[in-house]
Amino acid sequence: MYCSRCRSQLYEDESLCRVCGKRVDEPDNADSFPHPGKVDRMEWYWYLIIWGSLLVPCIGGWTIILVSSIMYYAWRGEYPNKAKSINLHGWLAWAAGQALAILLILSLKAFIQITGGGGG
Ligand SMILES: [Zn+2]
Repeated sequence: MYCSRCRSQLYEDESLCRVCGKRVDEPDNADSFPHPGKVDRMEWYWYLIIWGSLLVPCIGGWTIILVSSIMYYAWRGEYPNKAKSINLHGWLAWAAGQALAILLILSLKAFIQITGGGGG
C-alpha cells in the first residue's frame, strides 16, 4: 500500500503517512479540481468561429472583432492568458481577412483590365 499524496510506502496498521502526514482513509481530492479540458474545448470552438468567419465576405471581419472582443471580456477575469490569446487571434484573423479582401480586389481589377482592355 502506498500513500496517495507522496507515494511513500505505508504499513497496513498505519492511518497516517509518516512522510507527508496525509490520512490513509482520506479521499484523494485530485478529482475535485475543475477539469482543464472543458475550457480548452470551448476555446478551439471560438477559434473555429473566428477563423471560419474569414470565409464570409463583408460581415466576416466584423464577426471576428465582435466574437474576439466578447470572449476577451468574458475570459479576462478567470483566464487572462486565454483572453489575451483569443484577442490576438481575433486581430490576426481580421488582418488576414483585410489582406485577403485587398488581394481579391486587386486580382479582380487585373482581371477586368485583361478582359476589358482588348476590346476590338
Ligand atoms: Zn505521504
